Amino acid sequence: MSSKGHVPIRMCIFCRKRFPKDLLKRFVFKKGMIVEDKCKTLSGRGAYCCTSPECLKKLTKYGHKALKGALKLGN
Ligand SMILES: [Zn+2]
Repeated sequence: MSSKGHVPIRMCIFCRKRFPKDLLKRFVFKKGMIVEDKCKTLSGRGAYCCTSPECLKKLTKYGHKALKGALKLGN
């Protein structure tokens, strides 16, 4: 019935696989801090991480550094 809207695809910064944006955690860099964009309302450049256990582990371990690098490189 209702047609599916276009789902943006984003890349996980750790495994570099592509996923529909909805399945990824989004982070933005704000005032020198990495903030998880839980409500998907924060503006600015975002970095994405998928929810596989492997990537979540990496996120915990070197999340800040990795996200910082990813955000600096831009989209
Ligand atoms: Zn991943």
